[in-house]
Amino acid sequence: MISDFISGNVRIEAFHSFTYFLGTSSGELLRRFIELIFYLIIIYMIFSEFRKNSKSEYKYLIVGFFALLGRQLFMCSILFGKIFGVINFNRFAVVILLIDQFLETLALLLLVAAFIFPAFKHIKLKFQKIVLLSFYSIALIVFSTYILYKAGYLGENSQILFLNIIQIAVLVAPYFFLWKGRPHNIKYLKSIMLALFIYLLIPLISLISLSIFGYLDPRLMVIQHPLPFISILILMRSVYLTLVDKAFLRTELEKSKESLEHERELSKLKDHFISIVSHELRTPITSIKLYLSLLKQAKFGTVSSSQENAIKTVINEVNRLSDLIDNLLTITKIEAHKLVLEKSDFNIKELADELYIGIADNKGIRVYNKLKSFIVHADRNRLKQVYINLMSNAIKFSQKGGSITLASGRKGNEWYFSVKDAGIGISKDEIPLLFDKFYQVDNTLERKNQGIGLGLAIVKHIVELHKGRVEVKSNLGKGSEFIVWIPI
Ligand code: ADP
Repeated sequence: MISDFISGNVRIEAFHSFTYFLGTSSGELLRRFIELIFYLIIIYMIFSEFRKNSKSEYKYLIVGFFALLGRQLFMCSILFGKIFGVINFNRFAVVILLIDQFLETLALLLLVAAFIFPAFKHIKLKFQKIVLLSFYSIALIVFSTYILYKAGYLGENSQILFLNIIQIAVLVAPYFFLWKGRPHNIKYLKSIMLALFIYLLIPLISLISLSIFGYLDPRLMVIQHPLPFISILILMRSVYLTLVDKAFLRTELEKSKESLEHERELSKLKDHFISIVSHELRTPITSIKLYLSLLKQAKFGTVSSSQENAIKTVINEVNRLSDLIDNLLTITKIEAHKLVLEKSDFNIKELADELYIGIADNKGIRVYNKLKSFIVHADRNRLKQVYINLMSNAIKFSQKGGSITLASGRKGNEWYFSVKDAGIGISKDEIPLLFDKFYQVDNTLERKNQGIGLGLAIVKHIVELHKGRVEVKSNLGKGSEFIVWIPI
């Protein structure tokens, strides 16, 4: 006994009796019944996923596993009847075999279609047509073999041979088809291919047995019994993992949706807050500006030259503040997609008012106003804001003794206006980044000059609303030129 065990005889014997048992009707009933339970579980799993996400591949999977389930239900009731002697189906053996094989082949076709479908999503309709065509062809061939068998032209074995060849074709097809599709879209491709290969061994063994011996050799058939089990288990594993992946992704998506919604709410609140505060700040600033100009005009008594200088500085600072508030209000409007243009006809010369020329003058920067006079159709206030942002940058980034040139003109079907300075300039790598919100070139002079990095983002947006573009020419250390081009 011990020597038997050592030599492995016990295990071999147990294996033999087990495979022998699987070959008997009771063994077959047990095998098919277990498969049936598997199918029920997997159909339940896919169906609950399908209800949340009705994808075509799930439809194929459900119908495919249903066909397998139907086949096993059918065969289990036949075997049950046979084993317990309820009804004798011997007379219908051939038809039963045919139905069994037919359902199995159809199920395989649908399962193969479901598993390789992701690789052919881009040609969904063509793919569906091919599957449907194969479905009808299989039905037709099976039916024809039966008719031929009945008419006596085909023996029982040749009929099985035919059915095996169809199954082999169905199982080999994906290996060829995947060349034409996008296999990288299929998850767990290797497992699926392995499972299909194992299933392929079943008709292959029958085919070999029939062609070599002329009959189904029981020794070869023994090898077949566990194969559907193994193959279906591997397929189930891939389906299960795909479903788990999907469920995981869905919860992640839900989570990010929630946080996005939360962030949107916060951002709305922030915009609302900025807009209210900016409006509130505007009113006092308007009256400060008014009183400052009255003071400057000596409406409240004579102003000494040092007082006048102080008033000028305060006016400049108040203007900076009001530009900042304007920019904040504009950016919140842009973010909320609420910025609409109010276009009218006006002379481009009107853009350059004396205020900023005065500010430049105070800083010791000469301004050359070369603006040509012509009428444009645009949003005057918004373009004024563009001018103010470009001009205040030009002033900010120029040193005492520098110069700024304002120019305008028409070229082809565009008109332009430009602000050119002889200031610190911008390096080539920084130019594409200038128009990003809150972007500031990191240099010490600029930090000294402050700013919040909104000016150019607003310029770009306003110009783009006019269907125009902003061109930047700059040389580090030599100066920059911002040219706004707008179609006529
Ligand atoms: P800011 O409020 O910082 O001026 P902008 O969006 O107007 O914001 O400008 C972004 C950055 O682009 C500035 O911080 C500066 O580094 C650079 N920049 C803009 N205009 C000029 C210029 N005329 N000369 C040199 N650098 C400039």
